[in-house]
Amino acid sequence: ESWPQSKGVSYKELQEILIDTPKAEKAREWSQYYTSGPHLAGKNLSQAVWTKERWEEFGVKSDVHGKSKRDLGTADEEEHTQGNGWEVKYEASLEEDVLEEDPTTGLPNRIPTFHGYSASGNVTAQYVYVNYGTYQDYEDLVKAKVDLAGKIALIKYGGIFRGLKIKRASELGMIGAVIYSDPGDDGAVTSENGTETYPEGPAREPSSVQRGSAQYLSVAPGDPTTPGYPSLPGVPRQSVNGSIPDIPSIPISYLDALPLLKALNGHGPKASSFGKEWHTGGLGYKGVEYNIGPSPPNLALNLVNEQEYVTTPMWNVIGIINGTIPDEVVILGNHRDAWIVGGAGDPNSGSAALNEVIRSFGVALQKGWKPLRTIVFASWDGEEYGLIGSTEWVEEYIPWLSHAAVAYLNVDVGTTGSHFTAAAAPLLNKALIEITQLVPSPNQTVAGQTVGDVWNGHIRTMGSGSDFTAFQDFAGIPCVDMGFNAGPGDAVYHYHSNYDSFAWMDRFGDPGFHYHVTITKLWALLAAKIVETPVVQFNATDYAVALAGYLDSVKAKGTALSADPDIFAFRNLTAAIANLHAAAATFDAHASSVSHRAFHASTSVPWYSFYSRARLYAAVRSVNTKYKTLERQFLYAPGLDGRAWFKHVVFAPGLWTGYAGATFPGLVEGLDAGDRQAVRRWEGIITELVEDATALLGKGN
Ligand code: GLU
Ligand code: CA
Ligand code: ZN
Ligand code: ZN
Repeated sequence: ESWPQSKGVSYKELQEILIDTPKAEKAREWSQYYTSGPHLAGKNLSQAVWTKERWEEFGVKSDVHGKSKRDLGTADEEEHTQGNGWEVKYEASLEEDVLEEDPTTGLPNRIPTFHGYSASGNVTAQYVYVNYGTYQDYEDLVKAKVDLAGKIALIKYGGIFRGLKIKRASELGMIGAVIYSDPGDDGAVTSENGTETYPEGPAREPSSVQRGSAQYLSVAPGDPTTPGYPSLPGVPRQSVNGSIPDIPSIPISYLDALPLLKALNGHGPKASSFGKEWHTGGLGYKGVEYNIGPSPPNLALNLVNEQEYVTTPMWNVIGIINGTIPDEVVILGNHRDAWIVGGAGDPNSGSAALNEVIRSFGVALQKGWKPLRTIVFASWDGEEYGLIGSTEWVEEYIPWLSHAAVAYLNVDVGTTGSHFTAAAAPLLNKALIEITQLVPSPNQTVAGQTVGDVWNGHIRTMGSGSDFTAFQDFAGIPCVDMGFNAGPGDAVYHYHSNYDSFAWMDRFGDPGFHYHVTITKLWALLAAKIVETPVVQFNATDYAVALAGYLDSVKAKGTALSADPDIFAFRNLTAAIANLHAAAATFDAHASSVSHRAFHASTSVPWYSFYSRARLYAAVRSVNTKYKTLERQFLYAPGLDGRAWFKHVVFAPGLWTGYAGATFPGLVEGLDAGDRQAVRRWEGIITELVEDATALLGKGN
């Protein structure tokens, strides 16, 4: 009986291969390919086939899966004034400028500026400026008795997921939404302070528009007609009511927003009078005073949105490297579809990196490597509309994933700037931090600095907005999501705009493609760490510590709500988490001792008798199975209140944030609703699951 281990290449050699192989020229070549033509969801089979062919060339068995279907709204929308007696004051262009320096912005088949899954409609009404359109922004307006019903919302991008801005507008009786990109949210790089705009300089191109999905995201991702089950041919389809908007919306540029904003000058209160969340935007220098409105009765907005809904296959590409252990699987994924011809940042900086990751593992395969655990690579389609390719895949393979998946590692935007950001399930915190110390930073102020050295070290909790969502929240698989983003000192990133192009990336986003190479190395090394060591490199104590922290913030919220500190003391849950902490610490110590012994056994074979090797392997296997299933303990089959698709009781996208994660969503939402019974019920549910997790770790080490 042979010790299960990787073959052909040692872990050390593998790490060297993964550091030495990725090349900037290659990443640039992949980037140029993906960004040279439209690859909107479902309309990119040729890029899926091309991707599969590359992966096979690298030596990884791959396939294009096109079974999953989903409904999409693609658009055709206009905002114009019709001949109904109104005088046309301004007609929005709804187009991004064609730039000579950026050839793909002028392709005849470029994609219109629209919101995916938006509702068709033709509405004419006065309009109101609603700031970012957060739940609180609307509350502030309701409190100030600003008339919202029957009006159109003029909304700034930023803060929360766009679909939720529209959702709340609709709930308050508004009949349409126009969302624009305010340059005040672009950090220091604005044309206001004299910085030149793209393509001359790094400031926002004034005609740029952020496309994007208008689905409600925190209700359920995936094909909205098949929540919770795979969207295969012939399956029953549900009504989409409640998961996508029922009012029309469109995205516009700040150039198109300017006349609308200026027309509000002098009408209604100043936005700044509503408090600090309502700070003035960046168009003051253009004469905008940021009044709320409503626009006067003789000044209306006519919003026309014509959407075409289709049901069409999604083209996922799936590659696999079989490991020695078949039922311990690590999945790496990135989406391939983009809103635009380009997508150099979102998502194809990640797609280029994924190709380099696979090419690097391919080099090891050529040297005879066989990994210890199985690695699956995924190039998802349909992320942009609602995480469709990944969600439908998880829903289809959930029995296998529940049994075998160890971790899912997501890179969506590989790079659009120089600031490393990461979200992770606590089990993976340590592994992630260690990996950032192995990769040199492209931006060193002191020679030899690693990514970890220049990173602020902040690890976000898992929210949503990318393909990890079904893995984390539906399947209970611990996830990492990471990439380099634009921040202070970087050029403005033209998210979901025609200017997220190869030309922009080459000149402003990542000249030299060094960040592409860096994210490749981080991704590959993190995967190697999780697939190659005999004991899975997880840390359960970090999970318990994180849970205690999440509960502290819930308690702080409770204290603010109730003068009686006893009401929200959460004694049972506090005790359960303390017990989990103790069990986790013991378990991690045991795992690390097993890990040491396993390492010795694999390097100094003669020392071990057959019997002790078999016993040791049983111990390794038991530790790994517990680490593998620990995250699954936090799944609650009936799901969260009002959004049953979300099964995880610790992590969910915030009900009104979408992107940003909520922790202990059941408790937080109960408190927010002032529903003491719901809070009690959720404390009971979570306590029981925490106790199950403790029992799992404590059982017969
Ligand atoms: N990354 C996409 C976006 O932020 C996700 C869309 C979605 O989750 O529906 O627009
Ligand atoms: Ca589905
Ligand atoms: Zn993306
Ligand atoms: Zn995107």
